[in-house]
Amino acid sequence: MNDLIAKAAEMLAKTRHVIALTGAGISVESGIPPFRGPGGLWEKFDPMEVGHIRTFMKDPARVWNTLMAEMRGVLKKAVPNSAHTSLARLEELSILKTVITQNIDGLHQKAGNTDVIEFHGNFAWLTCMDCGNRKETISVNMDVLPPRCECGGIFRPDCVFFGEAIPEEALIRSREEARACEVMLVVGTSAIVQPAAFMPMIAHQSGAKIIEINPEPTPLTESVSTFIIQKRAGEALTAIMAEIEKRAG
Ligand code: NAD
Ligand code: ZN
Repeated sequence: MNDLIAKAAEMLAKTRHVIALTGAGISVESGIPPFRGPGGLWEKFDPMEVGHIRTFMKDPARVWNTLMAEMRGVLKKAVPNSAHTSLARLEELSILKTVITQNIDGLHQKAGNTDVIEFHGNFAWLTCMDCGNRKETISVNMDVLPPRCECGGIFRPDCVFFGEAIPEEALIRSREEARACEVMLVVGTSAIVQPAAFMPMIAHQSGAKIIEINPEPTPLTESVSTFIIQKRAGEALTAIMAEIEKRAG
């Protein structure tokens, strides 16, 4: 296993075009539950159902009282963990160019990464479905759910619900980055939610090496990954960064 840490460090240290694709797993150590797996939201309700745009349009109060309430509670307290800060340091060293994230928690930006493509939008902002007014989530009164705009319209978060399209620009840029990179770090994603899971395929077809970090193997592991480091994101990335700093120093 430590060989793989050294191998990853060596590959990253000599490459100048690295990008990262991250999923819910990278934020688990910040106390944000993933959808799938032990402790996942799936154990409480079906995120594919309450997180579906059809459900939200039909019964916004129900979605705000379940999935949204859950996310709002954890996001308020969440701070970046050592996996996020390692990726920020990797950008500082001019190794990592871009982070493509499926997360809506804003923790990559909080850690210091400056080019973050939010594939599924974010939870930091809300938009009124009637007048288009935008407000920061923390500034909106949540005593009565669903939260409403001054015009009486219902607020929705700026994240992508199941059944909705990925923001066009995020998709275009992600494809470009996946094509251009030499190494793609794939951290904490189960790689079953499309089209995000397709980005490693594009990178692989374009000749990039794929380093996966995930305690569990994924459909990518046997198909496109160069290798997988089967550890938690914080532990693996901290070890890789220590190795890179040692070489640089
Ligand atoms: P997922 O929930 O489907 O899978 C999580 C993956 O992370 C699994 O493969 C699991 O083995 C791995 N994992 C668990 N703990 C880990 C750790 N400590 N370090 C590294 N990996 C770990 O997540 P997904 O693939 O991102 O898809 C779910 C969708 O749900 C996303 O597209 C996202 O929009 C949304 N979501 C976001 C958040 C967030 O913003 N933090 C949280 C839950 C869900
Ligand atoms: Zn309004």
